[in-house]
Amino acid sequence: MSVIDLRSDTVTQPTPGMREAMLAAELGDDVYGEDPTVNRLEQHLAAELGFARALFVPTGTMSNLLGLMAHCERGDEYIVGQQAHTYKYEGGGAAVLGSIQPQPIEGEADGSLDLAKVEAAIKQDDFHFARTRLLALENTMQGKVLPMTYLAAARELTHRRGLALHLDGARLYNAAVRLGVPAMDITQHFDSVSVCLSKGLGAPVGSVLCGSDELIGKARRWRKVVGGGMRQSGVLAAAGLYALEHQVARLAEDHANAERLADGLRQLGYAVEPVQTNMVYAQVGEQAGALQAFCAERGIRLTAASRLRMVTHLDVSGEDIERVLEAFSAFARV
Ligand SMILES: *Cc1c(COP(=O)(O)O)cnc(C)c1O
Repeated sequence: MSVIDLRSDTVTQPTPGMREAMLAAELGDDVYGEDPTVNRLEQHLAAELGFARALFVPTGTMSNLLGLMAHCERGDEYIVGQQAHTYKYEGGGAAVLGSIQPQPIEGEADGSLDLAKVEAAIKQDDFHFARTRLLALENTMQGKVLPMTYLAAARELTHRRGLALHLDGARLYNAAVRLGVPAMDITQHFDSVSVCLSKGLGAPVGSVLCGSDELIGKARRWRKVVGGGMRQSGVLAAAGLYALEHQVARLAEDHANAERLADGLRQLGYAVEPVQTNMVYAQVGEQAGALQAFCAERGIRLTAASRLRMVTHLDVSGEDIERVLEAFSAFARV
């Protein structure tokens, strides 16, 4: 029985084509800037997303951290969503390692931050206050795509108030595919963007930070400081390049599978949030633990949460979705 893992889109295995690309990669020492495959990945993404330069790093957590540290000095502040990955799920790295104060604000139902609330949180130039330097957004945010008009308004506000604008675009390509636009249409509004290759794109490891020449120069220095300078990392960059070439358009299948899963769960009586990309959130209440155990016996891996998140990806097929719905249906009958 094959296992269907819906806990996250980080669980994918490299495809045969990706493994071949990794085996064939030309390599060098990237700390010396001499890995041709890493250089190719960085140049490719910088160009595709409209930036001067890019930096390959091991994780999205490091990519966001380096972005924040490159924008902000000690005693600066960044405005961020209360539920944002950067703020909530990265161990407080910006504060711990960057001496950057977060100013979290409650997010809206559509995944955005109310720009009036953002503006109200910007501090005056007064030595009592941290210096507000940056606004960080996330797209997709819990599977939701930020509207293009919102991105333009965030850009206008940050320009007007002299803030930089960073995007945690771990799932940038899910947003672009959902909107049917080139990813650059989204990233053009930002001063820096972090993209994960190891989520829906299906690479085993890696994220890329994009920005100006100066910003990436600073980030490259911090990458070495935090221990992220890798050597023959082209073996990993090759997987990322392969993913960008072959595994972006297919994200639409993940979105369709998520939609199908959500529809089926609604028919079984679950309250399911509207689906935009590859994440399905269903209210399962106190059944969470029992449901997880029941599904585990049938080769389906879930997290145990009352607001259950299920994520579709490369290794979940349309047939798998039917198997998941059958299991939920059987659970309802016990
Ligand atoms: C996964 C993720 C990250 C961090 O990526 P890691 O590679 O797990 O460190 C950052 N932001 C968002 C929105 C993510 O989903």
